[in-house]
Amino acid sequence: VPALDVEKIRRDFPLLQEKVYGLPLVYLDNAATTQKPQVVLDALEQYYTTINSNVHRGVHHLSQRATDAYEGARKIIASFINAQKPEEVIFTKGTTDGINLVANSFGRSVIKPGDIVLVSAMEHHSNIVPWQIMCEDRGAELQVIPMNEQGELLMDQFSALLNDRVKIIAVTWVSNALGTVNPVHEIISRAHARNIPVLLDAAQAIQHMPVDVQELDVDFLVFSGHKLYGPTGIGVLYGKEEWLDKLPPYQGGGDMIKTVTFAKTIYNVLPYKFEAGTPDISGAIALGTAVEYVQKAGIENIQQWEEQLMEYATQRLQEVEGLRFIGQAKKKSGAISFLVDDIHPYDLGELLDKQGIAIRTGHHCAEPVMSAFCIPGTVRASFAMYTTMEDIDKLVAGIQKAASMLR
Ligand code: PMP
Repeated sequence: VPALDVEKIRRDFPLLQEKVYGLPLVYLDNAATTQKPQVVLDALEQYYTTINSNVHRGVHHLSQRATDAYEGARKIIASFINAQKPEEVIFTKGTTDGINLVANSFGRSVIKPGDIVLVSAMEHHSNIVPWQIMCEDRGAELQVIPMNEQGELLMDQFSALLNDRVKIIAVTWVSNALGTVNPVHEIISRAHARNIPVLLDAAQAIQHMPVDVQELDVDFLVFSGHKLYGPTGIGVLYGKEEWLDKLPPYQGGGDMIKTVTFAKTIYNVLPYKFEAGTPDISGAIALGTAVEYVQKAGIENIQQWEEQLMEYATQRLQEVEGLRFIGQAKKKSGAISFLVDDIHPYDLGELLDKQGIAIRTGHHCAEPVMSAFCIPGTVRASFAMYTTMEDIDKLVAGIQKAASMLR
């Protein structure tokens, strides 16, 4: 018996009650973005109808309430990921923004010509391109931890790549294209044995499993609110205080300063040093609400339920003639990628859409992964806490119907 009351949870999500083409929506594109529970939508509206005001500035009542709510959200998130201090939680626009922040600040202050940045073969473009830009700028080199045909990182080769020139390692915890869960504890401990800091892209981990930054001992960790049942436009960068203190600001502007003269600016303390300008106040507050919603359901319960979904989907999809999985790692979470015969993923996606089934097709912003498998793209079904076994049954039936039309 699942500890999660999935039917009750589903009733909290207005969009899951909607129909597409007159059919009940089967939403299996959660790795792209999750739907939002009513409490999150209410938090957004309540902010604008009751406390809308700028933060950290006014002495007036509304500004103080907005500031309290914004800083309250920071505390909720800090506790969710077990950060030592709320000051280690920086609000960003999302995962992409967080990686750009670290690549830029770390690059300018640490990276020298000839240094190496290590990423993995299964990174999302947002954990490749910012490092490439920075490496080009600094005369540094980007190197890649390879993977096998199952879509698992080759850990021996990872160790062989570590040397004194490697200054930072940036890897994804869970692959959005393959569903692979990477051995992040092992990566971090081997990196730290050589004093190399690690950034984890937790965009596909934070919504599926418990995240404890102190237990991981990770240096930087980034994620997006919109994949965690929160709004778009808001995300989080966690950084160890010692690192965030050392790094220079990413952007300049209001809020990130203590004093400004034309001769010199003294920067503000953490976390404000990295939050230039008016932030996404309502987004941050609503992300705090989303995190509380997840905590109420219980992240362990969500993880357990989604493991059952993954097992069931893997088993049921095997019934489809000609279906092959792309990425067969022993540990997978959240997403399953596959192809059927030589049917183009886009054609399959379109026929599934007509049946009210939302999945993702294409390269999933991970073109190097597709190149490694010599394919143009995949069909990807991805899960959330509200996904049901019935959704998976409908997916399998939908694929069978679509494939018979396309064969
Ligand atoms: N990394 C991974 C692993 C992702 O799945 C995504 C979103 N697809 C991103 C980074 C980028 O997230 P965002 O677009 O929200 O910045």
